[in-house]
Amino acid sequence: MSKISKKGFSVLHDPLQNKGTAFTEKERQTLGLEGLLPPRVDSLELQLGRVHAELDMLDSDLQRYLFLMDLQSRNQTLFFAILMSDPARFMPLVYTPTVGEACQKFDHIFRSTRGIYLPISAKGRLKDILKNWPQKDVRFIVVTDGERILGLGDLGVNGMGIPIGKLALYTAVAGVPPELTLPITLDVGTNNEEYRNDPLYLGLQQPRVRGKAYDDFIEEFVEAVQTLYPKCCLQWEDFANINAVPILAKYKDKICTYNDDIQGTAGIALAGIYGALRISGQKLVDQRFLFMGAGSAATGIAELISLAMVSEGLTIEEARARNTLFDVNGLITSSRKDLADFQKPFAQKIKPCSSFVDAINLVKPMGIVGVSTVPKLFNQQVIEAMSTINERPIIFPYSNPTSRSECTAEEAYKWSKGNAIFASGSPFEPVTLLGKTFIPGQGNNVYIFPAMGMAVLATQASRVTEEMFIVAAKAVADQVTQDELDSGLIYPPQSQILNASLRTATKIAEYIFEQGLARVKKPKDIEAHIHKMAYKPVYEK
Ligand code: NAD
Repeated sequence: MSKISKKGFSVLHDPLQNKGTAFTEKERQTLGLEGLLPPRVDSLELQLGRVHAELDMLDSDLQRYLFLMDLQSRNQTLFFAILMSDPARFMPLVYTPTVGEACQKFDHIFRSTRGIYLPISAKGRLKDILKNWPQKDVRFIVVTDGERILGLGDLGVNGMGIPIGKLALYTAVAGVPPELTLPITLDVGTNNEEYRNDPLYLGLQQPRVRGKAYDDFIEEFVEAVQTLYPKCCLQWEDFANINAVPILAKYKDKICTYNDDIQGTAGIALAGIYGALRISGQKLVDQRFLFMGAGSAATGIAELISLAMVSEGLTIEEARARNTLFDVNGLITSSRKDLADFQKPFAQKIKPCSSFVDAINLVKPMGIVGVSTVPKLFNQQVIEAMSTINERPIIFPYSNPTSRSECTAEEAYKWSKGNAIFASGSPFEPVTLLGKTFIPGQGNNVYIFPAMGMAVLATQASRVTEEMFIVAAKAVADQVTQDELDSGLIYPPQSQILNASLRTATKIAEYIFEQGLARVKKPKDIEAHIHKMAYKPVYEK
């Protein structure tokens, strides 16, 4: 092999060290970079301007996504500087909705690799494979098995875009240092036949492994992570419910772990409720909620609301009785014979009812939460029934995407004569009605999970508990200003998300210390400690 000098060249191709055109004259001389870069030295600000201009020239969000992913693999500082320059603009580019399309096409647009792939064919060797990751101190892993990617179903290893994108948000939104994070995809096969038959598909071309072999694989993975990275938090992402629920139940009291689809979702819904209560001036213990839908989202949200009600003095049975579910077959009542185990705690001793409007008149809820996946179920009659019972009805159509929302923001405001306290799963534009502009809130988990990650990191928490999500929800709601509440907004604006997340992380961290779950000594000033730890996208001198 011919002898080549790689010193400067390898620095330019290491995304953690690369500054591109921002290397100073002195750095260029010492690192052997002279001649490898055009002569002028740029500032980070100028580089940012160039990237913004390049993004504006592109025609589609998928192209912008690919451009940003290339940037991440070239120059990490510049990538995060861009994301953090305008999180509200860039979050939808590196995560939902653009990441969905990117995952679907992942194997057809594959570029440089990032993260670790653990195929089930490597069972018995997972620890050795994990050791190939260059960073030895990993504190935060987002892991998927690709079975339920967003609302898109089984995408197999193409789901890798999710852990990558989600970890980018942990950094951009709450300052989790990127060098401590690791995206992982577990490849146990795919039941997506189109992928299995596609010669470009990059994963194992076999059906999904189930049962004991799957459970053993997960167990080996968890043990390998615990051994190599004992301070690491494991966040499970986009597993199908059949695996997500038992995995969480098995590990949540043993290691530092959580599932954002289950717990983060419930957290953000509870934050919306705390925000709504600041508008209505009522107490959580006095509320009753009726859910359109009785699936995993409904039961997860209902359970966290119930636990929050318990913290205000109710028994868990009293609290669950204030959260009533309604599904495709009507009210979830104790007389029903078709209930799954996870629905039974919410079965009420009330008469069966198959019309949602009748259910509203029977239960008299202060709020309705739509998690049915079916559009238009919150029709005029429903909103009017809620408005007859309540001065300020809480109307939360959370089904995603926008096309599945149980109602639009405009419908909720119009049919309630401007009185609805509204938040949705997918974003809606502001609505002007009766001479007033209403700003609809979006119940986006991004207000919760990055802050949880930062709090866990700063405290080295030994566990992630349900109560930590209640604390997070309260902290998010408490940050909404009176002016924002007056315009109908019940979540902080996304443009302020970094500050909001650090504040939320501080509140969670305080709770972790109070509960004795921290594995580091309590700093004098927790907020200052978190701000100091938070990643800043600037070049090291
Ligand atoms: P799921 O399939 O587990 O549950 C759907 C439920 O809706 C089932 O109980 C079903 O019986 C019921 N349903 C279906 N058709 C109905 C009808 N016509 N009338 C009444 N009930 C009906 O789904 P899931 O995982 O619970 O998710 C539900 C929705 O919630 C999805 O659209 C998802 O996007 C949304 N969601 C939003 C967020 C968020 O915005 N943060 C988070 C999680 C889930």
